[in-house]
Amino acid sequence: MTEHVVEVRNLRKTYGDTIAVDDVSFAVEPGEIFGILGPNGAGKTTTVETLAGLRHADGGTVTVLGHDTQRDPASVKDLLGVQLQEATMHGKITVGEALRLFAGFYTRPADPDTLLELLDLTEHEHQQFARLSGGQKQRLSIALALVGNPRVAILDELTTGLDPQARRSTWDLVERVRDSGVTILLVTHFMDEAERLCDRLVVIDAGRVVARGTPGGLIADLDDDRTVVLRFGDRTAGPAREVLDRLAASHPDVTRVEDHQGAAGEVAVTGSRRVLFAVVPALAEADLVPDDVRTVTRTLEDVFLAVTGRTFTPDDAEPARATEGDRS
Ligand code: ADP
Repeated sequence: MTEHVVEVRNLRKTYGDTIAVDDVSFAVEPGEIFGILGPNGAGKTTTVETLAGLRHADGGTVTVLGHDTQRDPASVKDLLGVQLQEATMHGKITVGEALRLFAGFYTRPADPDTLLELLDLTEHEHQQFARLSGGQKQRLSIALALVGNPRVAILDELTTGLDPQARRSTWDLVERVRDSGVTILLVTHFMDEAERLCDRLVVIDAGRVVARGTPGGLIADLDDDRTVVLRFGDRTAGPAREVLDRLAASHPDVTRVEDHQGAAGEVAVTGSRRVLFAVVPALAEADLVPDDVRTVTRTLEDVFLAVTGRTFTPDDAEPARATEGDRS
């Protein structure tokens, strides 16, 4: 059996009357990118800060490579790298100076030049912190989390506030860091980020784990409904809707026909896995050719809806501390 790199068992943490983490358990295996996914306020940051020994748990146990971080936080200093949200430092310090300064805190630090290269910061080595873009600051904060040569790195909301391009390049970097041998615990409220990066994850809501597994496994476990979206032109939209409404009333594989997200001429048809087999012959019979046909891909958002009964709203998804978009 492999040793768990991180193990959290029945973790509980309250702030006064607020139960931030109610009962959270999970284990992370070597070499994984393991996700903690959930809406704003779910208890993600509290979980990882407690895991890192930065907060005191009210119940449960947390270990990193067998070390109890609550009893002995210092024991994981060289094993665990932490990148917490919105790291900030003196505006005049340069990227290279910051890395070398932090390297001095560790017993076996990583080579700063290698880190600069790993995180695409070599050309910014002499740039001052205050002059870095949001994406560059995030890359520096990941580099600082790795400077102690840790076996595990915690990355918390690292793409909040970045534009889509900077997010995607940050994702590539996270994979590069994992490939360099570091196990990663990724905290995120972005469903797409979790789906793209995580080997396994827990979904947390209101301080509890509501789902766990691989992104693909969680999505595959959803019920078997399928939705097909069809777009029609001005002349065909009306007759097509009539045909599809009749189909929904009569065909066992078609359960629902509705306008698709208010888009003109777009109709969403939901039914069993065989729904497409019902739709295509009915339209062919009436000679109504759609301009476009696509199947709706299910995502972790559908998983969240299935386990909580709520959609993951933009309010949930956008933490109050989100910073302005910034180019990397
Ligand atoms: P997440 O990281 O998922 O957004 P947090 O762990 O930051 O969630 O917060 C979980 C809950 O605990 C929220 O209700 C939040 O308001 C509360 N909370 C977090 N930090 C503190 C604190 N220092 N004092 C009081 N309440 C806190």
